[in-house]
Amino acid sequence: MSNMLTPEGVPVWTNEDRCKGCDICVSKCPAGVLSMQLDHTKVLGKIIKVVHPEACIGCKECELHCPDFAIYVAERKDFKFAKLTEEAKMRAEAIKANGYIL
Ligand code: SF4
Ligand code: SF4
Repeated sequence: MSNMLTPEGVPVWTNEDRCKGCDICVSKCPAGVLSMQLDHTKVLGKIIKVVHPEACIGCKECELHCPDFAIYVAERKDFKFAKLTEEAKMRAEAIKANGYIL
């Protein structure tokens, strides 16, 4: 967890200034919560977006693997996370198969 303030009622959030667009968090998310978005101002031409926050299961895989400390997940005591559904799993696979973009 970073020293950023935790936004209320949000399972996962980002610091876009730190994101270099490496795809790693999207590749790790089992629930299709995250997607890259094209952004020509970034070195790799992409930036992270939280596209389905309601599906976040709080596993912290994204936060643990981000090399730039650009993505954060709420603590279990602060947020009631979703359960992993088949729909979320299928979306995650579709995003990965589509070059990490929804
Ligand atoms: S792992 Fe970190 S730096 Fe890479 S796309 Fe995700 S938020 Fe951005
Ligand atoms: S905590 Fe888990 S489910 Fe939530 S965005 Fe990160 S990797 Fe995806």
